Amino acid sequence: MLIVQKYGGTSVGSLERIENVAKRVAKARDEGNDLVVVVSAMSGETNKLIDYAHHFSKTPSKREMDILLSSGERVTASLLAIALQEMGYDAVALTGRQAGIRTDGAHTYARIESIDTSAIEKQIQKGKIVIVAGFQGINDEGEVTTLGRGGSDLSAVALAGALRADACEIYSDVDGIYTTDPRIEPKARKLDYISYDEMLELSSLGAKVLQNRSVELAKKMGVKIIAKSSFSDGPGTIIAEENDSMEAVLVSGIALDKNQARVSLRDVTDRPGIAAEIFNRLAEEQINVDMIIQNASKEGTTNLGFTVPQSELERAKQAIATFDHDLGGADYDENVCKVSIVGVGMKSHSGIAAKAFSAMAENNINIEMISTSEIKISMIIDEKYGELAVRVLHETYQLDR
Ligand code: ADP
Ligand code: ASP
Ligand code: MG
Repeated sequence: MLIVQKYGGTSVGSLERIENVAKRVAKARDEGNDLVVVVSAMSGETNKLIDYAHHFSKTPSKREMDILLSSGERVTASLLAIALQEMGYDAVALTGRQAGIRTDGAHTYARIESIDTSAIEKQIQKGKIVIVAGFQGINDEGEVTTLGRGGSDLSAVALAGALRADACEIYSDVDGIYTTDPRIEPKARKLDYISYDEMLELSSLGAKVLQNRSVELAKKMGVKIIAKSSFSDGPGTIIAEENDSMEAVLVSGIALDKNQARVSLRDVTDRPGIAAEIFNRLAEEQINVDMIIQNASKEGTTNLGFTVPQSELERAKQAIATFDHDLGGADYDENVCKVSIVGVGMKSHSGIAAKAFSAMAENNINIEMISTSEIKISMIIDEKYGELAVRVLHETYQLDR
């Protein structure tokens, strides 16, 4: 079998842990498999590098950020290869460039466009265990790019797809996908299976256990992901196409996203094209607008509210400032979070949303905004009630059973 394994930051967070990973890789090798191993930077390393850059600049150039951040993954890839070599295994470490990973030009948030697998295949044919530095590639100009936070998951899925690997195993500090973050709700239950669509919603709505883009790509390429722990042995969770048993579940998980800020625009001139102008302006600044609410117009003006990631709020404020003549005023609130309920079963059942709203009411949690799709319900609430809301909803839908 050809197996792609990915080890996240916690799993390679110290020299002892890199050694632990080396032993796991060696074991999979001894079982007769070909291996491509993708590694993250040691935990905390990427944040440390970002802090270093911010010491010099509030807005460091993205090109240089990519060179800086990609170094974290190179450290672990080379150390893991060295550790394996010392154990008597033939391993080779490759950077994103050497692994043939080509991306678009969006520095710090690049998309993988193609992978030239010939270099990796050559190494596999030579009998090597291939270690790839995750989270990085190069663009058309040969510049280093990175794939957004959590991007090593994407590297692993893309490599598994391009190499037509038999398995794509993603190792972290949890032994699978749970009904909610087990750090928030200890009663969270591990799932055996979850569909791509549900996982994609959970990841996009704040469950960082898998990067959302990696799930999107896995679905597109039909790569079956297995989420496992690098600290224990167990079957993990399979992320794959929806099947019959999944449909029986109404709600499969709860996600919490604390990286949210609310923007409220008061007395917006109500004329055709105003919303387009505002949201096009935000799009030009690459600000990800999420929930949008517009009230019915009164005396030619309306109120418009939406959410953006907290990290993009400063830029949103600047973009909104250019609309002064069209606004009565703008308020910003960073103390909000988004709690979401996800489940494919919602497609065919009513009353799930009402149940969530009642549970919030019984706990005196005010809902500031609501949005729904076929398989999710999201609510914006005061940040200080976020974790409580997760536990309340977990109980409401009896997800521990
Ligand atoms: P890595 O560093 O290996 O990429 P992450 O820290 O990105 O790992 O993801 C693992 C973490 O995701 C867990 O420690 C857990 O707290 C969190 N998490 C959030 N939601 C979930 C969920 N539904 N199931 C499992 N883990 C979750
Ligand atoms: N090191 C990068 C990050 O912390 C990528 C990853 O770990 O997947 O976001
Ligand atoms: Mg991660």
